[in-house]
Amino acid sequence: MNFADLGLSDELLRAVAEAGYSEPTPIQANAIPPVLMMKDIIGIAQTGTGKTASFVLPMIDILAHGRRRARMPRSLILEPTRELAAQVAENFEKYGKYQNLEMALLIGGVSMGDQIKALEKGVDVLIATPGRLMDLFERGNILLTGCSLLVIDEADRMLDMGFIPDIEAICTKLPRQRQTLLFSATMPAPIKKLADKFLDNPKTIEVARAATTNANIEQWAVPVAPADKRATLRALLRQPEVRTAIIFCNRKTTVRELNKSLKRSGFRSGEIHGDMEQPQRLAELELFKAGEINILVASDVAARGLDIKGVSTVVNYDAPWHPDDYVHRIGRTGRAGATGTAYTFVTPDDAENIANIEKLTGQKIPRREGEPEAAAAEDSTEAEEKPRRSRRNDKPAPAPERRPQRGRRRAAPAEPAPAPAAEERDTGGWNGPIPDFLSARIDL
Ligand code: ADP
Ligand code: MG
Repeated sequence: MNFADLGLSDELLRAVAEAGYSEPTPIQANAIPPVLMMKDIIGIAQTGTGKTASFVLPMIDILAHGRRRARMPRSLILEPTRELAAQVAENFEKYGKYQNLEMALLIGGVSMGDQIKALEKGVDVLIATPGRLMDLFERGNILLTGCSLLVIDEADRMLDMGFIPDIEAICTKLPRQRQTLLFSATMPAPIKKLADKFLDNPKTIEVARAATTNANIEQWAVPVAPADKRATLRALLRQPEVRTAIIFCNRKTTVRELNKSLKRSGFRSGEIHGDMEQPQRLAELELFKAGEINILVASDVAARGLDIKGVSTVVNYDAPWHPDDYVHRIGRTGRAGATGTAYTFVTPDDAENIANIEKLTGQKIPRREGEPEAAAAEDSTEAEEKPRRSRRNDKPAPAPERRPQRGRRRAAPAEPAPAPAAEERDTGGWNGPIPDFLSARIDL
């Protein structure tokens, strides 16, 4: 299947080719033709399967003809977070470069004045988070009566974040005669209800069972005592195959403290969580995308759906409370055909969370024992979860092996791994010890 078989315009096909996509993903192949035929659709596909382009591409062609009017956007895309909204905007820029489309972003953390100014000029595409859109609507700065195409993206995340009432209110302000597209990784009952109420005879496209995890992701549960979490994490991150990693924590305070601790240990890490201002979050994300940092410590809200290519590793520093979050978190790796590894730390208190995850995904996560010992041997001097004084000369842990091997690892000598030959060493700004994984390339 080719993009050219989907009925898209030549201009668009050129932009797609230049972006480096050779073949549509299954959700794209199945959704684009009916969207172009102006049908309502429900698209269900796991995270990382290319849902964004499955609405952005046909929308660009649909909107290529027609006239803009002040304060009356022609189409509306609802996103749960500012980052996702920004990513969708980037997609319009990338694929719409040969078409003359105006868009505006309505997201928290960006000056209201600028956003209103953009709307005044008239836009073809408005990308908004529900809260900010309702604010502007209530102030009378925006009219949704000219909006004949609505996209509700990441619907299950909207539900988690409590946005369903806002979305319902927004739906009633749009013309009845319109096209509505809804995308989600999972289809919980309230989303089904929303779809029944606001979509007209929709075509449902489901490319994978809801809440299945991607087969390209190797998953491990790592039993660990709460006090050993940091040391275990450091040992994991020093494995040669870890090039770029996202570390998920359940609480913002853990995100901040863990990032500090990783930096003290010489890792190039950054953080992203809901308390940060928008420009700060985007700046941190840019550093990660550019490879200036290779580890991002994140909270769920900030990281859901982020489009970051080539993340080799995801670590659930805390087992997620909601099983859906597990699917979304590990979906940051193994994207678009690449392979990845996801580790989930499991303390004795997490047994129930893990059981819920395994029930949802219908898969048992294999246990990987051994890291705690290896890690504890390395850092037995550090009192965990307390700040410590900076110690620049951390020794790299022995590279842990791929498969669980009880008994052997404990006996492994805590010696630094042999340094790679000078010519294959690429430290890339690393200021700590030099483990061999730095010779691996980061493909972002
Ligand atoms: P989802 O919304 O389903 O979680 P995204 O739309 O964010 O997924 O896409 C996930 C990743 O896959 C992005 O990095 C995107 O650039 C990439 N991608 C999307 N479509 C294709 C394609 N046809 N070929 C290669 N990569 C693609
Ligand atoms: Mg998405």
